[in-house]
Amino acid sequence: MDKVSAEIDEQTDGLLCADVAIDAGSYAHGKSVYTYLVPPQIESRLGVGQLVWVPLRRNVGVGMVERLHRDPPTVPLKPLRSLVRPAYRLNDDEIDIARWIARETVSTLFAAASPFFPPGVEHASTEIYELVDPDSPAPEELTSGQHRVFELLRDRGALSRQQISRAMKSNPVASLRALEEAGIVERTLEVEDRQPGKRTERYVQLVTFDLEAVARSPRQRQALEWLEQRRKFLGTEGDVTAVRELTQQDGITAATVSALEAKGLIEVTEREAGEHPTPADAAPPPVLTSAQAAAWRFIEHALEEGTDQPILLYGVTGSGKTEMYLRAAGWCLRSGKSAIVLLPEIALATQIVRRFEERFPGQVAILHSAQSNSERFAAWSAIAQGERSIVIGPRSALFAPARNLGCIVIDEEQDPAYKQDSEPRYHSRRLAEFIARQRRLPLILGSATPAIETAYRATRGEIGRLDLPERVLFDAGGVDTVLDRSSSALPKVTIVDMRAEARETGSALISRTLRQAVHTSLERGEQSIVLLNRRGMSTIVLCRSCGRSVDCPHCDIPLVFHRDRDRLVCHRCNYQMPPVHVCTACGGTLDYFGAGTQRIEQEFNRLEPGARTLRIDRDSIKELGGFEKAIERVEHGEADIVVGTQVVAKGLDFPSVTTVGVVQADGALHLPDYRSAERTFQLVAQVAGRAGRRAAQGIVVVQSYTPDHYAITSAAAHSYEDFYADEIAFRRQFRYPPFSRLVRFLFRAASEQACRTEAEALALELAEHAASRNVEADLLGPAPAFAARIRGDYQWQVVLRAPVDSFDRLLDDLPARPGWLVDVDPSQMI
Ligand code: ADP
Ligand code: ZN
Repeated sequence: MDKVSAEIDEQTDGLLCADVAIDAGSYAHGKSVYTYLVPPQIESRLGVGQLVWVPLRRNVGVGMVERLHRDPPTVPLKPLRSLVRPAYRLNDDEIDIARWIARETVSTLFAAASPFFPPGVEHASTEIYELVDPDSPAPEELTSGQHRVFELLRDRGALSRQQISRAMKSNPVASLRALEEAGIVERTLEVEDRQPGKRTERYVQLVTFDLEAVARSPRQRQALEWLEQRRKFLGTEGDVTAVRELTQQDGITAATVSALEAKGLIEVTEREAGEHPTPADAAPPPVLTSAQAAAWRFIEHALEEGTDQPILLYGVTGSGKTEMYLRAAGWCLRSGKSAIVLLPEIALATQIVRRFEERFPGQVAILHSAQSNSERFAAWSAIAQGERSIVIGPRSALFAPARNLGCIVIDEEQDPAYKQDSEPRYHSRRLAEFIARQRRLPLILGSATPAIETAYRATRGEIGRLDLPERVLFDAGGVDTVLDRSSSALPKVTIVDMRAEARETGSALISRTLRQAVHTSLERGEQSIVLLNRRGMSTIVLCRSCGRSVDCPHCDIPLVFHRDRDRLVCHRCNYQMPPVHVCTACGGTLDYFGAGTQRIEQEFNRLEPGARTLRIDRDSIKELGGFEKAIERVEHGEADIVVGTQVVAKGLDFPSVTTVGVVQADGALHLPDYRSAERTFQLVAQVAGRAGRRAAQGIVVVQSYTPDHYAITSAAAHSYEDFYADEIAFRRQFRYPPFSRLVRFLFRAASEQACRTEAEALALELAEHAASRNVEADLLGPAPAFAARIRGDYQWQVVLRAPVDSFDRLLDDLPARPGWLVDVDPSQMI
């Protein structure tokens, strides 16, 4: 055993070594895979993909075994410490995915693999001691203290140091160390068990519908009939019911259930209860419209065949995309497979989550960032153990340990939230496509306004495309399905030219058209949503005499006045100061200009004093108790006018909202980012698609200073096709994606000169790299970033642009100097 502890360098020939990906902390290309010796006592339990504890500087840290070998080492090696307990191993597919991510996103293998680790594994751990060979007798030479520890571990198995101390009524540090050094005791680290006490629920499933067998018991007969009815009504998805629901029926008791179970007519299983209890009146799956039926036939075929070409499901809001996801998930369940459904922002998608839980009670695992560690661990374990087969979550859900995956769905695939904004900077769509090809399964990309890249690939046949052109409308009772093929099913959009409005009325905040629309909705007892993508009260404070603005001392951008906090706030670094009224430069009087959501709220309070106005933005959300609560309040009709930032545009489906206003639709249009037109279009189109989803008499008012821009006009006309035609021409002409791929390099330093020097050096290296790979790349920059200063530091950037088909050649050994942030396929250029 001392082979592994003492002078190792001379005796390592032929010993097992492990290459371990560790958290090297540094960016890319820094060495992040290190070789360790494998202590003989764990050799047999160690495999590739295993999580292990390794010595890291003065600490221990988690690492993942990437390779096992017996290559003679060239430098002295340290032994790895132990396996992570409970033992966890990434499978070969997962390791392949991690390797792919590391290369694609220029990140370390550890960073790329870590999203697969069980939640909480990196931090909380306890030291555990156990005998290496519990069956061998106690060695003779032990001291009495060591002997007592030995016997304790032999009798009780693995124990934490705390448990040992408690049992021995002392802390046997020296004995433990001696036993460990002698190779008698093994010390490991165990991930703390985070599983909270499970709440379980009993479920019942009909096995045989045999009325003869219950002929003499009317209650059992009644129970069987109830179950059978439910199955008929709900189809296979209605098979499993909570026992609780059954016993709620008149006359049916727990005894009835046991009797049926004893006869083998039903099966009762105990499972972890759902986060939301199953409503008793789960809606049956609707009869598909003909367009839906055609789309479903295609998807079902792809599921059966394992067709891995992605499918773009292109359909307006309300056309039945979610119904297709539900059916795909149902197919997976019936086939003993699992499904992963990605949503851009789970907190804003309560309606979709509810529909999955209603259709598949007890089968849905929800993952999201707001979960506590133990909640996340519980969901993760339920997925890993196959207890829950439908995984719903944000981009990280792609890493869930789903068993026998059958399909992946990405809803609102155009959403920028699918790009991870810290290492590893992967895009969920690309990653999902890789996984789909690796496992031969369909990837469904749903959108009413697909990302330009996705639509472009669909036109080239790289992605399949299914259209759901019609909105499904309901009559008031929600029973009959009405299809409306004409555009009258979509709300009418009015563009207001705010230049003219300002000229004619001297005011450019809320136009007359928007006021009137909100007023009309109010009179009818309906709701309005008014959107402005900027928080605060006044967005700029200007001096009347010298014209200077009050700026953040660290970021050089104007401070925004927040009335609720009575503070001037920097929206980039959150620097705050009390409001000032005299210019520090010249002593002149300061004026407060520009509008944020607080100003709009104030304005509507003035215009409609009788109405209840609710502001939903980052400043108010805490007070409102979170998005879910805020949305509930709107749903329950507790607000007449909702004023908010873009968050209110997402995931909302309020039947009684009939007026939607966008205060400054072109706010983002002139930012130096090739995606600014796409973002603007997406925002306006999304909002326009929401208004009066069920009641087609909704009106949308779009206020703009550039009312003729194609991003505004095509969104107002509900025409994705028009927008696509203009936008793809722009991208082609200026060689932006999808006609090229970009890598954004960003550097931050306290001095501007340091940024410039670094950026120029990197640019040179990049140019040489491209030339050496024979790639016709070009560079945008080096130049100060759009956010030229942040928290006192300067920022410079270099963007590398290369043709799509040769881009891949650049990825290996892409130059990346220390301190640089590297973003492949950036979703933001500013
Ligand atoms: P999307 O995801 O495209 O917005 P949904 O799947 O949410 O569309 O469908 C919109 C609404 O119409 C939902 O309430 C859904 O239950 C309902 N619906 C969808 N298809 C049908 C259908 N064929 N018959 C009746 N109702 C339907
Ligand atoms: Zn600042």
